Amino acid sequence: MTIEFETPKPIVQQQYVLKTVADNMMRPHARYFDENEHEIPWDYINFMHQAMKASGAGSLAPKEKKDADPNKPKRPPIGYQMLAHMLEIISWGDAGMYLVTPGGGLGAAAVQSAGNPEQKKKFLARFAGDKPTFAAMCMTEAGSGSDTSSIRATAVLDEETNEWVLNGEKIFVTAGEKALTVREETGKGFIVVWATIDPEAGRAGMRSFVVEAGTPGATVTKLENKLGIRASDTAVIVLQDCRVPFENILGKPTVEKTTKGFKGAMATFDATRPLVAAIGMGVARAALEFLKEKLAEEGIEIRYGVPRNRLTSIERDVIDMEVMARSAWLMVLKAVWMADNQKHNALEASMSKVKAGDVGVKITQKAVEILGPLGYSREYLLEKWFRDAKITDIYEGTGQINRLVVARNLLGYRGSELR
Ligand SMILES: Cc1cc2nc3c(=O)[nH]c(=O)nc-3n(C[C@H](O)[C@H](O)[C@H](O)COP(=O)(O)OP(=O)(O)OC[C@H]3O[C@@H](n4cnc5c(N)ncnc54)[C@H](O)[C@@H]3O)c2cc1C
Repeated sequence: MTIEFETPKPIVQQQYVLKTVADNMMRPHARYFDENEHEIPWDYINFMHQAMKASGAGSLAPKEKKDADPNKPKRPPIGYQMLAHMLEIISWGDAGMYLVTPGGGLGAAAVQSAGNPEQKKKFLARFAGDKPTFAAMCMTEAGSGSDTSSIRATAVLDEETNEWVLNGEKIFVTAGEKALTVREETGKGFIVVWATIDPEAGRAGMRSFVVEAGTPGATVTKLENKLGIRASDTAVIVLQDCRVPFENILGKPTVEKTTKGFKGAMATFDATRPLVAAIGMGVARAALEFLKEKLAEEGIEIRYGVPRNRLTSIERDVIDMEVMARSAWLMVLKAVWMADNQKHNALEASMSKVKAGDVGVKITQKAVEILGPLGYSREYLLEKWFRDAKITDIYEGTGQINRLVVARNLLGYRGSELR
């Protein structure tokens, strides 16, 4: 099987549409939602919901399988490649606003990967409903971020009522407020909460539970004020004797010796890490393009093909930045191509995220440096992209944790052997 580097036609068509969205719905409002952190960009949300519904892209509901036409040539799968390109371009528009695009996010991804057919039908179908709907994933706790095995939230089965009783506090939940709040403007969202059903069992006791918006005992207690991606809400959620029906558990309700369920959750990251990397690459490209545009206004064009010793220092810097961006993007493309072709891509997924995290910060920082006051001023979005870029290196596994994953995969160590 060979990788095709030419962007497939259906993706090019989507890129064209999304560039228009980025230009008209995102860029003009990016500064406003950066400066008004907890305001909700309803125009963008409603537009995207309708657009995704019309194109079928918003529906995560299990689709009825149609009989394939045996005479039609089989197209290679491009789902993850498509997503990577879409996320890159839309984050070029604004990474913070991208994170409030309605749909399931990581919460729906958890249901998709660990839910049974009834759960998928019940919870995922709502994203194709009349109103924009949100879901979120609650894993991180104070003292349990990178080391997910130390989660302390608990889920205890009340056998009389056949309900799970959840207790604990989750922090840094992206879209947590939108997913958990009952609103006229939105459909019924949900959060997926990670908790232990047996604190003695370590990872084998970890399960995830769907908590629907409006469930008593699940409360948003704080919204973070952040450095970047400020259009996106990041919530603290407290679960206090929060009761959910027995059937809201994702995976088996009994503890077994294996950590298969937990590994399954970690495997979702193999699919999503390259996509997070793609978001970072969109921010980096925005900064790089802006830099070249401003240099061109000053009459500085980059002379490609001229020997390096004859280039100016700025030309060398820009070319180095472009090389960094392209090499990171190639890693993203390889990781999503592997995901599309069902190849084990834990190594490539983490590599792409490490690289994109580093490159995004370096490119935006260097662009600010080269443009000086222009880069530092709030008159332009460059200083914002500098702040937005850092998140790629933090969520869905920090740079250090993804380096550990890379090292384990290269050296053949298990998690317990190299930590
Ligand atoms: C804006 C934002 C949105 C987020 N959204 C979500 C979300 O939707 N859902 C969710 O569950 N979480 C979310 N998170 C949490 C995020 O995933 C965690 O912050 C991240 O995993 C790091 O965990 P921590 O904050 O506890 O840091 P720690 O794990 O305490 O790490 C602190 C530092 O130590 C380093 N470190 C830790 N262990 C090792 C090691 N073994 N070797 C080397 N270095 C190490 C880390 O890399 C980091 O630099 C979000 C965070 C932010 C900032």
